[in-house]
Amino acid sequence: MGRTSFKVAIIGAGASGIAMAASLQRAAIPFELFERAHDVGGTWRDNTYPGLACDVPSHLYRYSFAPNPDWTHEYSPGAEIHGYFRGVAKAHGILERVRFSSEVARISYEGNGEWRVQTTSGEEDLFNVVVLATGILHKPVLPKVEGLRDFAGASFHSSQWDHSQPLTGKRVGIIGTGSTATQILPAIVDKVAEVSLFQRTPQWIIAVPNNELPEEKKVAFRRNPEKMEALYEFLNEIFNQRFAASLVGENAEGLAEIDRLCRENLEINVEDPDLRRRLTPSYQPGCKRLIVSNKFYPAIQSPNAHLVDTPISRVEPGGVRTEDGALHELDILVYATGFDPFAFFRPTEITGRDGQSLNELWEASCSAYRSVAVPGFPNLFFIGGPNSPIGNFSYLRTAEVQIGYIEQLIAELAAGKYKQIEPTQEATDNFNDEIAAAMKGTVWVTGGCTSWYYDKQGKVVSWPWTYARFEASLKHPRFDELHAS
Ligand code: NAP
Repeated sequence: MGRTSFKVAIIGAGASGIAMAASLQRAAIPFELFERAHDVGGTWRDNTYPGLACDVPSHLYRYSFAPNPDWTHEYSPGAEIHGYFRGVAKAHGILERVRFSSEVARISYEGNGEWRVQTTSGEEDLFNVVVLATGILHKPVLPKVEGLRDFAGASFHSSQWDHSQPLTGKRVGIIGTGSTATQILPAIVDKVAEVSLFQRTPQWIIAVPNNELPEEKKVAFRRNPEKMEALYEFLNEIFNQRFAASLVGENAEGLAEIDRLCRENLEINVEDPDLRRRLTPSYQPGCKRLIVSNKFYPAIQSPNAHLVDTPISRVEPGGVRTEDGALHELDILVYATGFDPFAFFRPTEITGRDGQSLNELWEASCSAYRSVAVPGFPNLFFIGGPNSPIGNFSYLRTAEVQIGYIEQLIAELAAGKYKQIEPTQEATDNFNDEIAAAMKGTVWVTGGCTSWYYDKQGKVVSWPWTYARFEASLKHPRFDELHAS
């Protein structure tokens, strides 16, 4: 017999929280969805910078249960993706169920299969299961450079773009050369007077055009949804399966092909040999998250664009001073310096069985069982937890794989078969030992770079095997690796 008062708390109404809610909705399992902001969409709500787009193809970067024939481009602009998430949340009756402006302050295990969830405004309630859908890239990181506060002009992180600042005729500085900076620069170069890109490490870039999708194609997709399905699976095969295999050392030809395409892109599209040399990374392509752009090289060669690769010494009221003594005078300074992927659920405090703090447990380094659960924290599940496949994959598919696993455990709990489920310490340790051994063969470790995939202890926290293995690993719960009581 099912448990009548059974209830799940989902924390976060971004891409993964919406998918989790849709899944519980389908299973008729009661849930509450907490969101600290005033809108759904997570990172796609927060990021509004010029040039924002997804570098995973539109027909792959969507939920499996919500195909969209109306994508306007092969790679969708950010606002369109945000609109898609809102649309799905609305269509599934989730939007009106979100508890907006409800920041969760504390989640504590009360024992007997119950968690207490408290918000910063003092509201609290008991839940049987907590799903942390808190995202990976939400806590902005500013550059560790002296004098940031001294800057006299406008300055902001790329994910907090200040649209009240006109760009026309301004001298703009961008610190960083990641996926974000390489999208911003081409989008603003024709508007601003000057743009200086402060590069600490060059990036490998693969040139992929972003064509508009013609009306006929949208009509064909509407008439024959199976065409969208076929395209989704085809793109999954290329972008998730084959690409992941190249990075984890299981497709040497694929990695060689990525290397060739990146070098060719630089060779063909950057004319000046000196600029080409300065834009050439010293590490292997794929080691850092690959940049997908056919606009960056043309943009950095514009007469008003400057690549500054002398290290920054400090920020001053008038601009950025580099170690050669030059002052790069600026009106606006953009920090495209990324996020802290290890913030996870923080600043929320999570206390598990026996008062154990997850914040403390993960202070130096994080680890989990199969990316979704942690011993000592029964009925607490992660979407995008440690060792989820991160990088140039569709995070939506990754989230759905994890949700598929989590919902099987929730079904057992909701049916009253068990009150609490958590992974055993032994299974978790074995999993992490295997992860550590396999990680040594991945390009993230062998490729000679550092990136946001590394934690404070120098451990790479991605998935070191194929994407197929990730899917297989979470297809069904292995009850011999779980304590279920
Ligand atoms: P990022 O990849 O972490 O890049 C941060 C950049 O800032 C790096 O170039 C880094 O240089 C530089 N930096 C940091 N501190 C610096 C300093 N003191 N001086 C000079 N440079 C400094 O951040 P991001 O570009 O925002 O991208 C983060 C992630 O967001 C991406 O990897 C991706 O997963 C996601 N994203 C996706 C898309 C998409 O199209 N799907 C678009 C944007 C972002 P070093 O390399 O030397 O550390």
